[in-house]
Amino acid sequence: MQVIYKIDKIFIFIFSFIILIIGLVGAISFRNFLFFLFMAMVEFFYLFFSLKRYFRRLKAIKAEFPEAWRTILSIHSSLYRNLCEPNKTRFEKDIQIILSDYSIEGIKGRRINIETKILVASSVATMLNGRPYWEPPILDGIVIYPGHSFNRHFQPGKGNYAGLASYRGPMILTEGALEESTKHPNDGFNVVIHELAHYFDMEDGKAEGIPSARLSFKKISKWKKMISKEWQRAFQQRSFLRDYAGTNEAEFFAVVTESFFEKPWEVKQKNPELYDTLKDFFNLDTAHIIKETR
Ligand SMILES: [Zn+2]
Repeated sequence: MQVIYKIDKIFIFIFSFIILIIGLVGAISFRNFLFFLFMAMVEFFYLFFSLKRYFRRLKAIKAEFPEAWRTILSIHSSLYRNLCEPNKTRFEKDIQIILSDYSIEGIKGRRINIETKILVASSVATMLNGRPYWEPPILDGIVIYPGHSFNRHFQPGKGNYAGLASYRGPMILTEGALEESTKHPNDGFNVVIHELAHYFDMEDGKAEGIPSARLSFKKISKWKKMISKEWQRAFQQRSFLRDYAGTNEAEFFAVVTESFFEKPWEVKQKNPELYDTLKDFFNLDTAHIIKETR
């Protein structure tokens, strides 16, 4: 993740320049200096709102990364533990940016402790570590429900949803599923990675197991073939992935992404082509990085 992206800088510069030119041309044409002052005020508000996020992120990464957070990450994240120093520093900066810029809240004003927030942010940072120019596809923050489940009417303690990637809505997670995800970092179950994989998939408006919005046209067809082969096996319960992967292609992508980050050596051994496709997409050789935890 970046504090400010090059494309944003270009847009801000162009719009600021246009506002300034309008102010100057208007003041000369109308022979009215007040018009220039008015446009200068417009410029000020434009820059204030455009750069607000930039300054917020800058402040977050300038702060010292607490040692207690490092301890939490070292215990619960196999990837963080095994990253080289520059990538570890980037991981920490991503955590600071996520915590400053994305809302992670409980329902009905329930307080979420900082450890839980760090663990959520850690899974997001895990998926982005190989792609420093990516933003997570989180549109409306993350909401944490108490207990282990909720139902389709979003009633906590009922139904069997452990998490949900609501289309264009917030990512919903249960405390129980989060606890399970972080207790065993190498069992192939991580509710945050699972739901975020759904958001990557849905960025193009379709849940079909292919994160098309971040793939070139050529790569999309390769994905289709690759996903379809292993998904057929999962559908017939012959895959190395857990049975839930056979539900449909979207769940397949979410489940295999969890395994790619939690037990990548298994994905690499059972289906090297699938592993390489995910490695290429996330730009991270997870089997190489976290092999020590095998
Ligand atoms: Zn799912």
